[in-house]
Amino acid sequence: RHKEKWATTAPRIPSTRLALHHFDTSYGLHLGALWPSVRAALLCEQKYGALLNNFAAADHIPQELELLNATDFVSEASQKAQQWQRGAAVGEAATGCQEGSGESRTEMVTQAEMSPPLCTSSKIKCYTFPRGDITRFRPARPDALGLLDYYLMDAASLLPVLALSVQPDDFVLDLCAAPGGKTLALLQTGFCGHLAANDVSVSRTKRLYHILHSYVPKEVRDTVSVTSYDGRDWDQVKGGTFHKVLVDVPCTTDRHSAMEEENNIFHKRRTKERQMLPMLQLQLLMAGILAARPGGAVVYSTCSLSPLQNECVVERALDVAGAQFNISVHVEDLSHFRTLFQDTFSFFSDCRLGELVLPHLTANFGPMYFCKLRRL
Ligand code: SAM
Repeated sequence: RHKEKWATTAPRIPSTRLALHHFDTSYGLHLGALWPSVRAALLCEQKYGALLNNFAAADHIPQELELLNATDFVSEASQKAQQWQRGAAVGEAATGCQEGSGESRTEMVTQAEMSPPLCTSSKIKCYTFPRGDITRFRPARPDALGLLDYYLMDAASLLPVLALSVQPDDFVLDLCAAPGGKTLALLQTGFCGHLAANDVSVSRTKRLYHILHSYVPKEVRDTVSVTSYDGRDWDQVKGGTFHKVLVDVPCTTDRHSAMEEENNIFHKRRTKERQMLPMLQLQLLMAGILAARPGGAVVYSTCSLSPLQNECVVERALDVAGAQFNISVHVEDLSHFRTLFQDTFSFFSDCRLGELVLPHLTANFGPMYFCKLRRL
């Protein structure tokens, strides 16, 4: 008699389909009318930015990229921020408003006051092609010493680093650092007095070493300490010492989950791991808060659209910090980022806390959620 072997013969539902089904249910509600266009963008080719490597002999790269019509979105935002600051200082805002985006004088002054010197002081340069232009960057090339000229990354990944606003000689912790795109961006500021880059995964830490070797000269690499601790235990190692902490947590990596079968967290056998993500994220964020010195800043980030992994984790961390550790934490307003970077990214305007970059067909970066906390 023929015996059916379900376990081996039943067709498996692809993880990408499970992911999309999950997203349709939850993000349809959360993003409402925006979801169909975000969904379409998630399923299309993503855009990259070229993070210039300040350590390479690459003076000719800006000109090469500008000839292709790419622009450095960080310096553009920085110029905007400076205009606001000047406008507010000398009372010329009204003139600037008429020439610019039509914002009211009051709005510009408020933004100038809120706008920290993050953009003006940053040495980070990242080139992107304009909205709607889907040109691809050529692969990175080595200089005479073998250092690569730029690093291709989702340009939205730079926003959490810019939000951290690293200042000269800051002690910086990158708690979940591998494969190392944001670590490299932190080094490009030229400001890290010391950088601790940690990731629990030994294999992914090897990729971090590889990036450091490909982009950073030895004397700068030597200022970075790479470790493989479970970030949740960081407080037991070096608590309360860092000026700036980046907590770029593992998440449902929505773009990857919608497109790739390999290593997909929506695979049936990873259900438990996926359901536990918000708890792991909360524990990592708590460790990040405890690693920051009083007055220090923590940026929490994910590449998911899920409010359960974004705002809810931050809200829960604020409660736990107060109730269990007697630590007050303040959420910083980053709404000026929306205005500063609106030419490059599409932002969700209804985030309860923090900022969220939405994938859009004409600006296909993200998703990227980031929220800045200050330990008081
Ligand atoms: N910041 C990285 C970058 O820009 O290249 C990406 C980080 S990725 C979103 C999340 C990382 O968290 C993964 O590399 C993963 O290995 C790490 N991770 C997961 N659980 C962790 C834990 N308990 N402690 C430290 N790192 C952890």
